[in-house]
Amino acid sequence: MARLLATIEHAVKKPIWDCRMCGQCVLHSTGLTCPMTCPKSLRNGPCGGVREDGTCEVDPTMTCVWLKAQDRSEKMPRPWREEFDDLRPPVDNRLQGTSSWINLLTGRDKVVPAGWESEEPPAD
Ligand code: SF4
Repeated sequence: MARLLATIEHAVKKPIWDCRMCGQCVLHSTGLTCPMTCPKSLRNGPCGGVREDGTCEVDPTMTCVWLKAQDRSEKMPRPWREEFDDLRPPVDNRLQGTSSWINLLTGRDKVVPAGWESEEPPAD
């Protein structure tokens, strides 16, 4: 069942968002821009390497994923618009290839890697 859902999720999200199946979807807080399409796979951005013209320092043929995410998040409804400013934890690579839908339902996507703590107060 888990594999079937992962296959369906990939079939739906890959063509729309170029989903990389990280298993911890944060599209709602990034203006529906997949952060895993950033060449550095940053979950928070932009990094300090974005060029003056808004292109990526790693791949100058592409606009910075995080600049797009910021623009798009401003068009999102509340509370997702405000969630753009939340500090997202590092991705847990053990979830790669699993269904973020299942991980959302089970709460597994909220488990952060050992040793990582946000200094931000918890969201209300
Ligand atoms: S954040 Fe993860 S699950 Fe969501 S679209 Fe990107 S790779 Fe897929």
